[in-house]
Amino acid sequence: MSNNINNILKGDLGVRELAYLLQLKGADQKLLFSKAQEVQLANLGRKVFYRGLVEFSNVCAKDCFYCGIRKGNKEIDRYNIEDEHIVNAAKFAWENKYSSMVLQAGERNDSAFIDRVTKLLKTIKQETNNELGITISLGEQTADTYKKWFDSGAHRYLLRIETSSPVLYKQLHPDNQMHDYNERVSCLDSLRNVGYQVGTGVMIGLPWQTYEDLARDLLFMKERDIDMCGMGPYIEHEDTPLYAQKEMLWPIEERFNTSLNMIALLRILMKDINIAATTALQAIDPMGREKALKIGANVIMPNITPTTHRKDYQLYQNKPCTDEGAEDCGNCMSIRIEMADREPGLGEWGDSPHFQNRTTPLK
Ligand code: SAH
Ligand code: SF4
Repeated sequence: MSNNINNILKGDLGVRELAYLLQLKGADQKLLFSKAQEVQLANLGRKVFYRGLVEFSNVCAKDCFYCGIRKGNKEIDRYNIEDEHIVNAAKFAWENKYSSMVLQAGERNDSAFIDRVTKLLKTIKQETNNELGITISLGEQTADTYKKWFDSGAHRYLLRIETSSPVLYKQLHPDNQMHDYNERVSCLDSLRNVGYQVGTGVMIGLPWQTYEDLARDLLFMKERDIDMCGMGPYIEHEDTPLYAQKEMLWPIEERFNTSLNMIALLRILMKDINIAATTALQAIDPMGREKALKIGANVIMPNITPTTHRKDYQLYQNKPCTDEGAEDCGNCMSIRIEMADREPGLGEWGDSPHFQNRTTPLK
């Protein structure tokens, strides 16, 4: 059997092979993991880069069926962290040599929001001596808005495709122009054209999702030649429409197991991109992120959102680390990285070699 896995890994990895590999457990899974680890160490070494995450608002204009902060959820308190506090969090990241931060929020397209983000990006750049890298994750915007934010200092963008299956995408979103699969794909194109390092990703273990769908997700990322990936298990939230499908949920261990297999396989398919060990993994297994760092992930996103609002950014339930402060989070992170036999890559932007190879590095 083991020989069989090694042979499959040496050959062409199409939908059939990937769907099979995604289901591995036990000794066969160990073989997959050791291959992924070998690729990781050969191409990226032991370094793990930090991206201090600020979830600055849970106000969202969209209604994705799976998400706890969707517009239609009336059960949560909405918040918007003041610019001053966001800038302080950015300075914390910079002073602690995280070198990079992620600004994430619900999606809004109104001009007040667009202008606010533009100003915020410029202020953060100024206040951190132009040294802090900024990734944004603010959903679907026009090419002009993406350009405006790029020119104001953001250089990486995370926009998960969520699933590369247009059929499943439709099942997970309201049927209207605001939630259109093709539109999301074209946003990934715009981001690349503007010059961002582009990150995407999917949720793993969704109702109706099959191993073939997930195999196609991996191929989607490869075909689109992405620079970064953040993907993790789908975790249900009881105040969302998708909760009605709970009898179709994948067993939680299977969602976790498959998420690790997705990371390992993506590392094998795309040797030099950045892959995040996402928080949702930790929501299932306290050591989830460490396990991911060992088998291909090389980025971790310590939460540096001011603590008072963390509990209100519940995309899914049982989100971990909602009551630690940023300092605790940073200390915990370096211990965790060492536990995974990796080294904190402090003081470096940590752009993926993939991006550096496909274009001239940004100044
Ligand atoms: N509004 C932006 C960014 C915030 S949402 C956007 O949608 O792009 C960030 C990510 O959270 C989404 O892309 C989605 O993949 C993930 N997410 C939302 N609900 C989730 C859930 N119930 N389980 C796991 N991940 C979820
Ligand atoms: Fe809003 Fe993003 Fe949640 Fe969709 S996934 S409801 S866009 S925050």
